[in-house]
Amino acid sequence: MKSRIIVTGGLGFIGSHTVVALHEAGFEPIIIDNLSNSRLSALDGIENLIGFRPQFAQIDVNDAFALKQLFEEVKPQAVIHFAAFKAVGESVEKPLMYYRNNVGGLITLLEMMKETGIKDVVFSSSCTVYGEPSEIPVKESTETKPAESPYGATKQMGEVILKDNSSWCNTQCLRYFNPIGAHPSAEIGELPLGVPNNLIPYLTQTVAGIRKSLTVFGSDYDTPDGTCIRDYIHVVDLAEAHVSAVKRLLDQSYADSFEVFNIGTGNGSTVLEVIQGFEKATGLPVPHTIGDRRAGDVVKVWAETTKVENVLGWKAKRNLETMLKDAWNWQKKLSERADN
Ligand code: UDP
Repeated sequence: MKSRIIVTGGLGFIGSHTVVALHEAGFEPIIIDNLSNSRLSALDGIENLIGFRPQFAQIDVNDAFALKQLFEEVKPQAVIHFAAFKAVGESVEKPLMYYRNNVGGLITLLEMMKETGIKDVVFSSSCTVYGEPSEIPVKESTETKPAESPYGATKQMGEVILKDNSSWCNTQCLRYFNPIGAHPSAEIGELPLGVPNNLIPYLTQTVAGIRKSLTVFGSDYDTPDGTCIRDYIHVVDLAEAHVSAVKRLLDQSYADSFEVFNIGTGNGSTVLEVIQGFEKATGLPVPHTIGDRRAGDVVKVWAETTKVENVLGWKAKRNLETMLKDAWNWQKKLSERADN
């Protein structure tokens, strides 16, 4: 029998790609999503890719009763926990909403896991825990910094909560760098609701004519071209990292019951390099202007990937050009769809 893996937030951007990667690796993914920041159309995309509709329960991770019922019915081997809010700016405006959902939701999930005897979880963390990093590339052992937003604080608290529960719960904590791109089939991808905050959806919407022009947030930083540096990672590579983490949990091959891995490529790109890379990959111009710095932006961050490669046995395979091409193909598909 296939191992059953609960994927909370399994219709979101990273969740949907992970559901597909789990299926391809021989697992049975079971999706929980409350559809607060995702759409049912993601389930259609998954179905088109894997050939059947995976089990889906419209459940909020704060709903202890519903979670428990599902866990008792499904008896999963592990949980991958994506369900959380993720907009930094919004978290500053609505901190309670973020703490309730991201921290409260994790606590409820863990309580119900404990009650039903599920001991293994993969947690979505973020390179935001490093703040403006004290060393680059960033190692897992690089000091974390006080969070700059309630969103960042919820990721740090999540890590602490899981570490404090490591007597009974085994955690693979994945610190994502900047996930972009989409499935190469363009069946699934990112579905930003409203005006996107992140660079790539804003860029692709600009090229698609939905937005007038992309504003580059600052060009006077201490970087080769003055714009900020990030470690962009293809969402399919990121999804595959989750499969590696689940295998490590189920094989019990972890060295510690709470382990942290950086999930990045190890390469940094500036905003202007991304724009030029997109233009080269697609042959399409990106209308853009240079604007002011955005408050709270880290200047430069990219991952040291030695630990994740040697210990988890995972390495990103897809380059920036592939990420940008796939992001564009997804945007083109979205532009044709009625629900975009
Ligand atoms: N960025 C930009 N214009 C935008 C959105 C983002 O110049 O409309 C820059 C932003 O300042 C940062 C990079 O793109 O340097 C990545 O930003 P994003 O919001 O995608 O990710 P994060 O800030 O979380 O790393």
